[in-house]
Amino acid sequence: MARLFDGNKLVIASHNKGKVREIGELLAPFGVETVSVGDLGLPVPVEDSDSFIGNAEIKSLAAAKASGLPSLSDDSGLEVHGLGGEPGIYTADWAGPDRDFAIGMKAVIDKLGDNPNRHANFTCALSLAWPDGHTESFEGKVFGSVTWPMRGEKGFGYDPIFIPGGFDLTFAEMDPVDKHAMSHRADAFRQLIDACFRST
Ligand code: IMP
Repeated sequence: MARLFDGNKLVIASHNKGKVREIGELLAPFGVETVSVGDLGLPVPVEDSDSFIGNAEIKSLAAAKASGLPSLSDDSGLEVHGLGGEPGIYTADWAGPDRDFAIGMKAVIDKLGDNPNRHANFTCALSLAWPDGHTESFEGKVFGSVTWPMRGEKGFGYDPIFIPGGFDLTFAEMDPVDKHAMSHRADAFRQLIDACFRST
């Protein structure tokens, strides 16, 4: 039995503005007040796990212990099947120190070269941690393929090269409502809500 979140204030343990915005939008229907670690001036912990869930727990626990409030983190990335799952947990790093995602997307396509296997998935691990060290963590995925050139202005990160299965538009061309209905983050979110939030 998962521990229930029964507070009304949650820290979003991410310094990534795109993620903070999407998590805020996903949580809006639950009437939870959110504040980000950036707003609180909390530092970025070292993410040295070899898994999405491990890194998500490092971030959620660091924020919960520093803030004294339940904290929700997201660790996510793009796994390209023709690259054996790369960039995976290193997705942010492939965008370079300035997090220029055009560089990261080009690196993915350059490394694929003429490899015909364009299948890919995004993975999202969400971890909810409490100040006493308890965590509840969930992993979601969305499968599709990568395309080139980049298309679309919406979303964030690697959205302009990812086409979800069964669609023609990239995530960056889609209405955010449609992305939220099918994304890796939405999949993990459904699991989190089912387990840790009381239905109203
Ligand atoms: P993290 O902050 O270490 O979890 O890095 C996640 C990386 O994956 C970042 O580079 C993001 O841009 C990318 N990423 C995660 N979720 C998405 C998404 O929904 N769309 C596009 N890129 C994403």
